[in-house]
Amino acid sequence: MKVSETDTLFLPRMDVASIDKEIKATELKLSRLHKDRGRAVGRKYLTCTGCAKKTQIQKVIFLQTHHYTPPRGCTGGDSWTPGEGNWVCSKCGYLSRLYDRDFDLCAIQDAADEVWDTHGVKDLADKVEELRSKV
Ligand SMILES: [Zn+2]
Repeated sequence: MKVSETDTLFLPRMDVASIDKEIKATELKLSRLHKDRGRAVGRKYLTCTGCAKKTQIQKVIFLQTHHYTPPRGCTGGDSWTPGEGNWVCSKCGYLSRLYDRDFDLCAIQDAADEVWDTHGVKDLADKVEELRSKV
């Protein structure tokens, strides 16, 4: 096979339709792998810092905290920045922080039963109280 300067080094020249078909098949496979990974992470357990009991990640409500940054200078507007993840143990009501775990936070967030965004300390306290009322 003769290779021209416009060919990639290791792949034979493909037409656009063939490349598009390959991209679509690869995206489908990648999507399935992400779903499989999410289900696998969801079957793992988090250990409560308060009572040491375990809860499956797929049953946890993930509390995504956000902290407020006030406006700065002439052009800087205010903003909310995502912070750490938290969860309330359904067995004892303890608020556990999610960091330094075996899985990354995004994986836990994707696999959790629900994700609740909290904005500021009072909002977090209100949502924690709502979850504790169900314990
Ligand atoms: Zn607990």
